[in-house]
Amino acid sequence: MKKKIRKIVQVAFFVLVGLMAINHTLAESGKALPLIGSASIHAVCPFGSVAGLYQLVTTGTFVKKVQGASLIVLYLVLLLSLLFGPVFCGWMCPLGAIQEWFNALAKKLKIPQKKLPKSVDRLLRQLRYVVLIMVMVKTAQVGALAFNDIDPYYAIFNFWTDDFVVSSGYVLIVVLLVGLFVERAWCKYICPFGALLGITNKFRIFKIRRSKTTCINCKLCTANCPMDIVVHDQEVVSNAQCISCMKCTSEQSCPVDKTVQLEAFSKKPIQMMGIGVTIILVMVIGVSGAIASNHFPTETEKIPTKFEDGSGYDLDTIKGSYAFTDISEVFDIPLDVLGTAFGIPEAEWTTIKNKDLKERYGSEEGEAGEIGNGSVKMFISLYKNLPYDYETAGDYIPLKAFELLDAEGKIPEDKRNYIESHTVTLE
Ligand code: SF4
Ligand code: SF4
Repeated sequence: MKKKIRKIVQVAFFVLVGLMAINHTLAESGKALPLIGSASIHAVCPFGSVAGLYQLVTTGTFVKKVQGASLIVLYLVLLLSLLFGPVFCGWMCPLGAIQEWFNALAKKLKIPQKKLPKSVDRLLRQLRYVVLIMVMVKTAQVGALAFNDIDPYYAIFNFWTDDFVVSSGYVLIVVLLVGLFVERAWCKYICPFGALLGITNKFRIFKIRRSKTTCINCKLCTANCPMDIVVHDQEVVSNAQCISCMKCTSEQSCPVDKTVQLEAFSKKPIQMMGIGVTIILVMVIGVSGAIASNHFPTETEKIPTKFEDGSGYDLDTIKGSYAFTDISEVFDIPLDVLGTAFGIPEAEWTTIKNKDLKERYGSEEGEAGEIGNGSVKMFISLYKNLPYDYETAGDYIPLKAFELLDAEGKIPEDKRNYIESHTVTLE
């Protein structure tokens, strides 16, 4: 149990995040299970707050899909990092854990492990800082989690939802395949959150120290480091790539007792059990305290992504999970206009979501089945005169919506015939 504590904590966080993601899906249809949170994983992911830091500092607002809860989780992760270094990477991150499990499987199957040439490896390890800066700048530009579409972390936990983006699934597959040959390749070369947390290795309170006097130079500490850090010739591990996994310590790899250890002020060793218990306590107490004092908001706003030049919202990024109330608020379209255009009874105007249109009309014969999220985008585009290529998308709108737009003079003459041929009479 003592030696397995890190693995237990990793599995616990993986299962917790997975259950929350499943419960979030269930919550959308009103079937959420009690006790497990049903927040979107965006709302509680600490990196969301880092990505949106620039916007948060300059405007005091969170980027789309990120909420105050993620800032609380970020504070707790930073606190743990100040104590022990990036334990989030080595103990808590589901993407780190899944890479580790794939690599362990590869080693069991005797798949040969690869190392990049030193010069290439050294250069590539700087890449994660470039990614970190790019993520922050781009997020500030578009007001949303800009790299969501290629983020493998979200792919693990939303491949069954409407929000899943296929490209992020491809990235996840590549990360896992590369991870069969190169241990924690994503963490070493790409991960922007790891880049940020790694900086704490330079000033963390409790450090990993190696005793020169008792070391027998067997180099097992170095051989077992997943991040390829040369431990056997250092007195203090302060490498920014360390993920505080403790695999190099005398508890795990080093054959000589008390030779590589995490040390407290009195030079007394801190055991892995102590780290594991501290992580759990800090997270449980921190999150419960924030929830109890109403400082853990997890409701995420449904706001489309902006164009890079800031010229307005990209209608293409409107998802089926958006409610008519979100559309009404963001685009300043009266709710009764939306409800009437799509034939929704007044009692449902405040609850209907774009994806419900498909369920409502999809079973009808002919083109009525085409009414869905795309129809809402087409309607917004025409009502507000915003760019959206409904012709390429092949969208349809209800006849009622066409009549409403026409009455307000919002049908462009050069598109009249096309739009008229893409209307549907709803019963
Ligand atoms: S093995 Fe040691 S040096 Fe390597 S990442 Fe883990 S804690 Fe850091
Ligand atoms: S594993 Fe221990 S004994 Fe072997 S080189 Fe590392 S510190 Fe020295």
